[in-house]
Amino acid sequence: MPVLTEEAPVAHVAPAPIPSAELFLQKPSGKFNWVFGIWIAVFHIGAIASFFFFRWSALIVLAVTWVLGQNIGIAVSYHRQLTHRGFTTPKWLEYLMAICGTLSLQGGPLYWVAVHRLHHQLTDKPGDPHSPRDGGWWSHIGWILYGSLHNEDPELLGRYAPDLAKDKFYRWLSHYHWVPVTVLGIGLFLAGGWSWILWGVFFRVAVGMHVTWLVNSATHMWGGKRFSTRDDSRNLWWVALLTGGEGWHNNHHAHPVSASHGMAWYELDFNYWCIRLLGTLGLAKRIKVQGPEGGAARILHG
Ligand SMILES: [Zn+2]
Ligand SMILES: [Zn+2]
Repeated sequence: MPVLTEEAPVAHVAPAPIPSAELFLQKPSGKFNWVFGIWIAVFHIGAIASFFFFRWSALIVLAVTWVLGQNIGIAVSYHRQLTHRGFTTPKWLEYLMAICGTLSLQGGPLYWVAVHRLHHQLTDKPGDPHSPRDGGWWSHIGWILYGSLHNEDPELLGRYAPDLAKDKFYRWLSHYHWVPVTVLGIGLFLAGGWSWILWGVFFRVAVGMHVTWLVNSATHMWGGKRFSTRDDSRNLWWVALLTGGEGWHNNHHAHPVSASHGMAWYELDFNYWCIRLLGTLGLAKRIKVQGPEGGAARILHG
């Protein structure tokens, strides 16, 4: 079983009477989640509509909001900092980057972190929230539309994200995770009309969801394996390009705490460059880096 973080979340709580695999066994609930389904449909319709409202300035809006939402928000904050604790930052920056994470509409930090830690604990085994062993479609989107895990399941969040659950700000942000993207959308609409809101919110969120979901589906099905992990994780270059480094997923499952996922010069890892930049600016400390040679992680800016 892979070690999750230095502070494995299960270590913070009393042993549960029921094994976690049974308690949180992700299974088809048998019914369609209409709330998620309708919102996902709305964002896809908005993404298609964006082509009818194209302006060159909207591409700049898309690029900036993409880096903030997908790279800084989901990858650097939700994934590498909050889930795996691959580095530390001042609290104000940690909170600010987590707000960026909500801009991608993939749930609040508590939910995202808890589900992802569950994925690492039970990767490709019964209880994994989104393993392609239960079907490629299931691992991509089916688990969201038909799955039994819910956004605010207090038992799941308390058990797998106790470090965040005890933080008032993260509880607030998780409950109101839709607020920052709504404020952003209104701001973009006022500043640049339909073109800016469609490209900066609807197109970005819809495509960003698929890009993140590809890490759950494609990189557990296709690609190469540097490390002989006991799961199906793979290194897949085109998912790495789309996600800014998250596609080096076999490296990541072998060394989940490492802030760097690319382990060779050709394994481009834009998200890690962002973390290194924060380190150079004195804003990121204790950056844990694991190379392909194994052994203990190097600590940069310790
Ligand atoms: Zn995985
Ligand atoms: Zn991970």
